Amino acid sequence: MLDATLNFKLLEMCGRCGACFSICPSCVNIPGYDPRAVIKDILAGNHEKWLTSRHIWECLECHHCLEICFQHYGFENAMTSMRTLAAKKGIHPAQVKRGWDMLVKTSRLGEPAMPARKKLGLPEPKATGSEEFRKLYELLKKRRLEEHQADKSGE
Ligand code: SF4
Ligand code: SF4
Repeated sequence: MLDATLNFKLLEMCGRCGACFSICPSCVNIPGYDPRAVIKDILAGNHEKWLTSRHIWECLECHHCLEICFQHYGFENAMTSMRTLAAKKGIHPAQVKRGWDMLVKTSRLGEPAMPARKKLGLPEPKATGSEEFRKLYELLKKRRLEEHQADKSGE
């Protein structure tokens, strides 16, 4: 599964480099957060143990590592792939599931704080288009299922 989403050749280079460790805000501020260790285990085929680690959810997706990377690849891709795999296996923090459910239901990641908006003189938030989002999401799910079935029948 990880094989399909990651470029191992580029990751090998990344495993030897480590240059962006010092500009990654999570590396600098969160004890134990170290994509170099995750990448090392991915390359060694030992990535499973990271699927239950909170560290794979601590990447801010700030893209600093991609911006400075000479191969425009590395830390972020490894962490994203691990999160995707964990989510597919249903191993994700409860708040991630809550956030996703809310997004599907309302197209928002949180409810607007109406008293605070009123105090600041902000208008009513616009409708989110949640109906359209739900329809798109259902279409996407249907397409994914069809692709999955087509892959299985071609095996
Ligand atoms: S992401 Fe790029 S700069 Fe950062 S460690 Fe990997 S190869 Fe080096
Ligand atoms: S995208 Fe993630 S891994 Fe890359 S610098 Fe930001 S926090 Fe660090």
